[in-house]
Formats: sequence, C-alpha cells, structure tokens
Amino acid sequence: MPRARIEASVETAAQPPLRACDHPGCAAAGDFRAPRSRASLGAYFWFCLDHVRAYNAAWNYYAGMSEAEIEAEIRHDTTWQRPSWPFGSRYSAMRGPHFHDGFGFFGEGGEAAAGPDAAKARPLSAQEAALQIFGIEPPFTLVRLKARYKELVKAHHPDAHGGDKAAEEKLKAINQAYATLKSSYFS
Ligand SMILES: [Zn+2]
Repeated sequence: MPRARIEASVETAAQPPLRACDHPGCAAAGDFRAPRSRASLGAYFWFCLDHVRAYNAAWNYYAGMSEAEIEAEIRHDTTWQRPSWPFGSRYSAMRGPHFHDGFGFFGEGGEAAAGPDAAKARPLSAQEAALQIFGIEPPFTLVRLKARYKELVKAHHPDAHGGDKAAEEKLKAINQAYATLKSSYFS
C-alpha cells in the first residue's frame, strides 16, 4: 500500500468542497468531523470514516489533553510509519517516548517479561502484555494497530525463519495480542 504523505490542512471554518483526512499519511477524503479537544468542541479535525471511528474510540485517552497535545498524538503516527528497529535484537536501542521495548517480552525461554525488573513488577494484564508485544501505548488508532500488526507478522513469520519453532510461538503471541487489543480498544 503506498503511503502518500499529505500535508494535513486543519481548517476550522470555511470548508472547501474536498478536504483530505487529517490523519497523517491518509489520502482518503476527510468527510467526518470530530472535535479537536474537549476544550475546543467547536473546532474540528476532519477524518475519513476509518479515522473518525478510531479517533472516537480513542477519545477517552485524549481526556485532559490540550488541543496541541492531541494533535501531537495524532501526528505521532507518522513516526510509526517509519521502518522499525531491527527485529530480533532483544534489547533494542530504540526507545522513543512511545516505544516500549516490546521485545523484552520475548525472553529467550519464551517466558514473558524476563527482564531483571520483571520480578519486582506486578504481573501484567493481558492487555498490558499485548501493548508491550506491540510496543505501543494508547492512544492509538485502529489503523496504527493494524499497521503494527502487519509489521510484526512480517518480522516474525515462521516462513521467514525457516519454520523456526520460536518464531511460531512469537507469531502466536502476536496474533493473541492483536485480538486482545482490537477487542479492548475497538469494539
Ligand atoms: Zn483517514
């Protein structure tokens, strides 16, 4: 799928007949409006149907955020589109503000959270574990979740690892995490 980069035009007043979805990288028409924040209920983002739904689904996570912060969160998705850190390296150096080391989860023994701090921490809920596997944290859009899922599947597909058993287990965990996140956040 080509990832067209579009400059989002966030206009709030006079509406041109055609506007692009405000979600970065989305080339669909922005036909649906959504308030830019709780404090600016009269100012709108314009999204395509997919993105307005995702935005609505994430609405609670935007509570208390300023308009600028919400916009930054949405824009953050652009960084998400970049090639990711090298898969397979357990402890990646890439730790952006929204990047958990999802792969700490995949300990050599296949056990969850095998890091030195894991023993002290309370056990993760299925949802938290899933977020770790995906290396994301709310708010995220369904589109972002799907894109991440595709990345992970590609990286860990057993076919790409010579039918490796470990890769198979990882793929299973990824599939489970995907189902968990999808049903937790988007249903
Ligand atoms: Zn869109």
